[in-house]
Amino acid sequence: MKNLILKILYSVIGEINSNQLRVIIFHNIENNQEEKFEKLIKKLKETWNIITPSEFKDLTVNNNINIKKKNILITFDDGYKSQKIITEKYLDPLNIKALFFIVSDFIKLKTKNEAHNFIRKNFYKEERSELILDENTLNMSQEDIQELISNGHSIGGHTGTHAELSKIKNNNMFLDEIINSSLRLENIIQNYKIEDFAYTFGDLESIDEKSTKAILKNYKYLYSGLRGNNLNLNSKIIRRDAISLTEPFEVISAYLNGYTDFIYKTKIKKLEKWKL
Ligand SMILES: [Zn+2]
Repeated sequence: MKNLILKILYSVIGEINSNQLRVIIFHNIENNQEEKFEKLIKKLKETWNIITPSEFKDLTVNNNINIKKKNILITFDDGYKSQKIITEKYLDPLNIKALFFIVSDFIKLKTKNEAHNFIRKNFYKEERSELILDENTLNMSQEDIQELISNGHSIGGHTGTHAELSKIKNNNMFLDEIINSSLRLENIIQNYKIEDFAYTFGDLESIDEKSTKAILKNYKYLYSGLRGNNLNLNSKIIRRDAISLTEPFEVISAYLNGYTDFIYKTKIKKLEKWKL
């Protein structure tokens, strides 16, 4: 129903031409979605300026005076192998640079079985032990991360075990998920300082004041899953649009053109109240 409404709205309203600074989130990309991914990138390039992580950061300072037209940064969450494969296939030839948020324990796994069990146990709010995963679903390896960096991409922290930060009671665990997880990532890469952190699940219920403050103390930027334009930011808390490749292109476009941003305004305000 929601998709149908957005589809109709997009056919009526279409692209919105005001200045925009947005961030898109991808998760796992299954084999049969590769073609859709390629098409989406090509379509985006028609109306959006796809920017690098450092261009994105430059545009968030100076009160956004330099923002002209529609700019978008591509991010990938969790550290799936498929993300590296499609990056090499479709982004690298177009010289597009992306930001990858990595779950540090996930990339240490050596077998498909371990990866699938980790996904079932940790990547959903409730464990999904019965979930059937595509045969090709795997985690990236440490070498994959190193290669992404060598090819000009960036990485950020996304906890150690994909824990829901607002639910952690134990202080050592809390620090391990927020700080040590990224130190472990830095240890496998030469001369790389992580300054970005995406909190898990992305909704307002998954984060609280304590974790927001701890993240902003240890990182330059905190990435949420709350939708919105990053024009006129008054904090280092970034709005992002999660999309699924199972959604029609018109629905994805409706999100990226901000049709549903109004739903997230109050939540963003609440999150920003916790800034340092
Ligand atoms: Zn995640």
